[in-house]
Amino acid sequence: MIIPKTAEEIELMRESALIVSKTLGMIAKEIKPGVTTLHLDHLAETFIKDNGAIPGFLGLYDFPNTLCVSPNSQVVHGIPNNTPLEEGDILSVDCGALKNGFYGDHAYTFPVGEVSEDIKKLLSITKASLYEGIRAFKVGNRIGDIGFAIQNLCENEGYGVVRELVGHGLGRTMHEDPEVPNYGRKGSGKKIVEGMVIAIEPMINMGTKNIHQHKDGWTITTKDGLPSAHFEHNVAVVNGMPELLSTFDYIYQSLGISSDEELPFRA
Ligand code: MG
Ligand code: MG
Repeated sequence: MIIPKTAEEIELMRESALIVSKTLGMIAKEIKPGVTTLHLDHLAETFIKDNGAIPGFLGLYDFPNTLCVSPNSQVVHGIPNNTPLEEGDILSVDCGALKNGFYGDHAYTFPVGEVSEDIKKLLSITKASLYEGIRAFKVGNRIGDIGFAIQNLCENEGYGVVRELVGHGLGRTMHEDPEVPNYGRKGSGKKIVEGMVIAIEPMINMGTKNIHQHKDGWTITTKDGLPSAHFEHNVAVVNGMPELLSTFDYIYQSLGISSDEELPFRA
C-alpha cells in the first residue's frame, strides 16, 4: 500500500534526509587512499547521533553498521572493514537516518583520488540517470516511467542495469511501497500521486547487469567483476512535480564542485 505524506510529514522527512546529506558531506572530506571504510563508518555513526538522529541501517534487518560501503565491483550493501582504500578506487556510500519517526536514505559514489576516464564516465552517466528518473516522477506518470528513463540512458551507453535491486517508497519504514525499479516500460506500473515520497537509486554496472550475492548475506558484486556505481536521492511529489528532500550540495561543498543539477527539483 502506498502511503502519501502530508506537507508536514514531508517537512519532517526533509529533516531526516538532510541529516544523511550532511553525513555524506562530512564523509566526502575523509575519503582518500589509506582510509578504511570502518573508520568512515565510525565517523558517520557519531555524526548522526550528534545530530539527534538514529543511524537508519544499524540493526535494520540485522545489518551490522551505519554505512553500506561498496567499492569498485561491489554494487551495494557492502559491510565496512579494515581494508584501506586505494588510489583509483570508487566507493558507493549509502546511509540512512531516522528522526521524528521518518527515514532518510541516500547514496553517492565517490572517486578515491584520481580515477580512470572510463570510471569517470560511469559515475557521470549513473548520476545523470538518477536525475532523468527524478524528472519522470510526477503526477500523470507511472512508476515504470522512472525506470524507463534510467534504463534508456544507461543501456544506450552500453551499461548493465541491475534488476534484482530497486528503489522504494520511504517514510516511517525504510522500505515502503511502491518498488521503484531502474528499468521499465513507459506508462506501466503504479500511478504517481501527490505526496508520494520515494528513494530513486540507479545501480549501474560498467559491464553486464548480472550480479552475485556473497556468503556474508549482504555484499552484492557484479558477476563480471567490472565496476558498478550507485546514486540515490529522496524525492517527494509536491504540486504534482518532483521535489528533492536530499541534496548532494554538502558533498559538493566538501569537494569544491559547483553544480546546478538539483536546481529544477528544489523547493
Ligand atoms: Mg540507500
Ligand atoms: Mg534506498
